[in-house]
Amino acid sequence: MWHRFPSGDRRQPRGAWCKPVYTVTGKTMLARRLPTILPMLGLDESLETTRIYSSVGLMRPGQSIIATRPFRSPHHTTSEAGLVGGGTVPAPGEVSLAHHGVLFLDELPEFNRHTLEVLRQPLEDGVVTISRATATLTFPARLMLVAALNPCPCGYLTDPRRECHCTQRQIRAYMGKISGPLLDRIDIHLDVPAVPYRELRAARDGASSARMREQVQQARAAQADRFGDTRMTNAHMSHRQVKQYCGLDDAGEMLLKQAVREMGLSARAHDKILRTARTIADLEGADAIEATHLSEAVQYRRLDRNLFA
Ligand SMILES: [Zn+2]
Repeated sequence: MWHRFPSGDRRQPRGAWCKPVYTVTGKTMLARRLPTILPMLGLDESLETTRIYSSVGLMRPGQSIIATRPFRSPHHTTSEAGLVGGGTVPAPGEVSLAHHGVLFLDELPEFNRHTLEVLRQPLEDGVVTISRATATLTFPARLMLVAALNPCPCGYLTDPRRECHCTQRQIRAYMGKISGPLLDRIDIHLDVPAVPYRELRAARDGASSARMREQVQQARAAQADRFGDTRMTNAHMSHRQVKQYCGLDDAGEMLLKQAVREMGLSARAHDKILRTARTIADLEGADAIEATHLSEAVQYRRLDRNLFA
């Protein structure tokens, strides 16, 4: 879950005399890059995605197969049917078009709350089931959901360079538009601070997408060994598997207990922290979950604490 960059605010003055200091498309750019660090599509995944796109006529002329992970970013005015699928003759929605790829929801609080609620089932099950009098259809929908929102209605709450004039009440109302149960289903809540444009330009020595993809592939290989299944990932571990594969030492147990108590976390969030910690350990090639992995995973639940404490 990413906060937007302040420059996305159209009220920021623009003109020849005022060079934009912030990058305008930061969060969208980050989200778009996500498929480039995920493992390449396998042939069977490619065929599944291709089948969905050809069923709705979205293949480009001359294109025979979808070979890269899809990236979909529907507008917040998208209807429930547009998002999860539906219609008189049921057609797949954005969640299915993002199958094996990334679904990016920008300005999350602007989406209709009920529309977002219907996302819960596909996020949980990896499929969408649409029932009609004549037939029941099931579309695949295994995707990575990325959503962005401002920390407050004006967007400057966490920005040291600009002053936020929103009241506590306005901020609560704004954040209240997103349902707790949906947030609870998102694994990682991350603050993306505003980055001055020149710093972004200068930051060329970070890990490249190719290097990151290698790390992700290595972590996925560890998961394939663990589960004996190349498609199963840590994110989909059952409660029983979390108990089996996410053992902690005494220090880790204490750290997690304390976090759960202080942040008032749900049982679901508790397991999510362990799944995320397992993945952080896999990315580092570590067999056991260590305290550093766990505390990093705990930090990714910050919206639980801020919104629902
Ligand atoms: Zn504000």
